[in-house]
Amino acid sequence: MRLSVYFLPTLKETPAEAQIVSHRLMLRAGMIHQEAAGIYSWLPLGLRVLRKVERLVREEQDAAGAQELLMPTIQPAELWRESGRYDAYGKEMLRIRDRHDREMLFGPTNEEMVTAIFRSYVKSYRDLPRNLYHIQWKFRDEVRPRFGVMRGREFLMKDAYSFDVDPEGARRSYEAMYLAYLKTFQRMGLTAVPVKAESGAIGGDMSQEFQILAETGESTVFYDAAFEEMTKDGAQPDVAALRKLYAAAEEKHDPANCPVPPDRLRTAKGIEVGHIFYFGTKYSKSMNLVVTGPKGEEIFPEMGSYGIGVSRLVGAVIEASHDEAGIIWPEPVAPFKVGLINLKSGDAKCDAVCDDLYARLSAAKVEVLYDDRDLRAGPKFADMDLIGLPWQVIAGPKGVAAGVVELKNRRTGERSEMSVESVMARLVEGN
Ligand code: ATP
Ligand code: MG
Repeated sequence: MRLSVYFLPTLKETPAEAQIVSHRLMLRAGMIHQEAAGIYSWLPLGLRVLRKVERLVREEQDAAGAQELLMPTIQPAELWRESGRYDAYGKEMLRIRDRHDREMLFGPTNEEMVTAIFRSYVKSYRDLPRNLYHIQWKFRDEVRPRFGVMRGREFLMKDAYSFDVDPEGARRSYEAMYLAYLKTFQRMGLTAVPVKAESGAIGGDMSQEFQILAETGESTVFYDAAFEEMTKDGAQPDVAALRKLYAAAEEKHDPANCPVPPDRLRTAKGIEVGHIFYFGTKYSKSMNLVVTGPKGEEIFPEMGSYGIGVSRLVGAVIEASHDEAGIIWPEPVAPFKVGLINLKSGDAKCDAVCDDLYARLSAAKVEVLYDDRDLRAGPKFADMDLIGLPWQVIAGPKGVAAGVVELKNRRTGERSEMSVESVMARLVEGN
């Protein structure tokens, strides 16, 4: 993509309404545009990141055996009356009437709908287990929408729902999602700590929130230092071992009875990016989802639900990865891999080298944003640092005359001069 024609409205000034760094940077980098409190348009650069996060989440869900479907955003109130949640959900639910005065709602979550779908088709234990998920916009009329996409009213969520014959099966489904979540966040370059959450009706250890560690997190978490080691990039997560480690939110943490010795206990701020939850037969019973067992008996499937805040993750990644100059994208979710800066657009030699690099990188399927604008070097550098692409290739008249360009790593700031051929080899490698 050429920056001279790209819709990338970057801002120099820090928008006054943004209280946290990810919100500020998303506005300044031209990623989102606010339409109403907690409701955003995703501009081209932001949408590229959102799609990458979505794709990564999808890959790990598929790898774990979950199957994607797509349920609508609008739901009939009738479904929610069946489960008893229509009244219970309260003011967070956006309620709508259609032209025939039928009560509808913008879905805040999909337990009822997926249960009703399952009920329409599945009659035998032989058709279990199944895990169905979708990635769809949700609406929750939050009391205090804030922090940009971190606590929006309309937001993108991946929500999966598992159906099993018995509690042991439900535990397997739960642990498969637990592992998929660890891998998903690990691939995004994030440390996610699974913290025990409110378990609702059932209790036990089958409700956990995944907290990304970042200074601006809304909650405080306490955890065993071993988590960092065992979930770091490249480590193969050992679910059984990880499940034994201590991690608790502030409200649940009792310093007097903490099993972790002080030298191994870590505390940090966390952002909840995912929640996995086993709730047993709550919906199968209330909505009468019954399957026939091996002896002809009636079974209410054991269910769980598993959410990931896809749009929240875009902000969470920025909270965990930025500096004074702007965003630092981990490569797997970066909007482009490379920013190519022509320091003297209009100069025949610089243009020739840059145009050639741009064409060759594009042909090699390396995603590249080419700053070919007729601008001074200062604003070009500032914009490129702000939008945080992992690599920058900088070409100026001096270097070009000597047959070299500069390759800069956005995270480390490391720069090295090299030939166009070497740059090509470095950027195409591992693409
Ligand atoms: P929170 O405590 O932050 O309100 P929740 O418990 O209501 O979250 P879930 O119902 O478990 O959230 O939803 C699954 C995931 O969706 C959460 O882990 C979070 O990442 C994301 N999410 C929830 N509410 C919002 C929101 N208002 N804006 C963006 N993402 C959200
Ligand atoms: Mg909530």
